[in-house]
Amino acid sequence: MSVLSKAYFHDEAAAFAHVEALLWANGRVCPHCGTVDHSYPLKNQRSKPSKKNPEGVERHGLYKCSDCRKQFTVRIGTIFEETHLPLHKWLQAIHLVCSSKKGISAHQLHRTLEVQYKTAWFLAHRIREAMRTGGLSPMGGNGQPVEVDETYIGKIDAVTRAEMRPYNASTKAAMKNIVLTLVERGGSARSFHIDSASVNKVLPILLANLHRETALMTDAAALYRGQIGKTFGSHDYVDHGAYEWAKGPRIHSNTVEGYFSIFKRGMKGVYQHCSEKHLHRYLAEFDFRYSNRSALGVEDQERAERALAGAKGKRLTYRGPRGYAAASEAPFSDAW
Ligand SMILES: [Zn+2]
Repeated sequence: MSVLSKAYFHDEAAAFAHVEALLWANGRVCPHCGTVDHSYPLKNQRSKPSKKNPEGVERHGLYKCSDCRKQFTVRIGTIFEETHLPLHKWLQAIHLVCSSKKGISAHQLHRTLEVQYKTAWFLAHRIREAMRTGGLSPMGGNGQPVEVDETYIGKIDAVTRAEMRPYNASTKAAMKNIVLTLVERGGSARSFHIDSASVNKVLPILLANLHRETALMTDAAALYRGQIGKTFGSHDYVDHGAYEWAKGPRIHSNTVEGYFSIFKRGMKGVYQHCSEKHLHRYLAEFDFRYSNRSALGVEDQERAERALAGAKGKRLTYRGPRGYAAASEAPFSDAW
């Protein structure tokens, strides 16, 4: 039996049971009044008749709260709330996004799930939102190495290709999006879209995300060699300009370089283009898969379940495509 034959990918009742088991692991919570386990299922309920469905459609997973007497389903207050897409298709989409190491484009989701491209695009962004983690405890500590590096991707929306010529270090730094990534060796990754690679921008991020007693590992950039290096337990660096990739087994930044290589192959090969304002969502996606990777014992199914757990409290309302002000903001921004 393949993973794709699981009942919750095909059967709506099974999909509800699967999501309920994960999101209500500590009891069925009424989203209206917060009461736990004081509600009962409403069976055989159908939606109002419509032209398309004169008999109405079966309403799955409907409960009534014994306290506030209101009805609810597990979709309320999650990324699933605002869509009419059947829950089993959501689960298919989450599985595809979670199991594709370099991501999966909205066009591919549109074809595989047989939903409109627009739907697929919103779906993918909502899944990225579920993958977004916040308020995590600091990384590193006890002399544990954390590698920090920055990379440049795409270009700032306001800049034209012509303005980037001649393409050199200064136009690159001024006109491309800058991503700062922190990787704990043998652990997780956190990435940030920053507007300049300066001590003022980078140090607060490091202070918020790293224990002071961390062994900081970077390249030889001047950015890290002053105040930032002195702030943490220790600071070592390798000089890539002098073809130095490692000083012994411990001092290197190859782990964060490996992260960037997956991120860039995904952004160039799968997503091809991503506008500045959505970059943080793509970063959340790559961080999530990296932090829940196979090498840490998290396989596809568990990774999908962890993403699902993040669906709670992330109700998102996007304006429809007609509400977008400019063409550059239109949702049709990733290809293939
Ligand atoms: Zn209630």
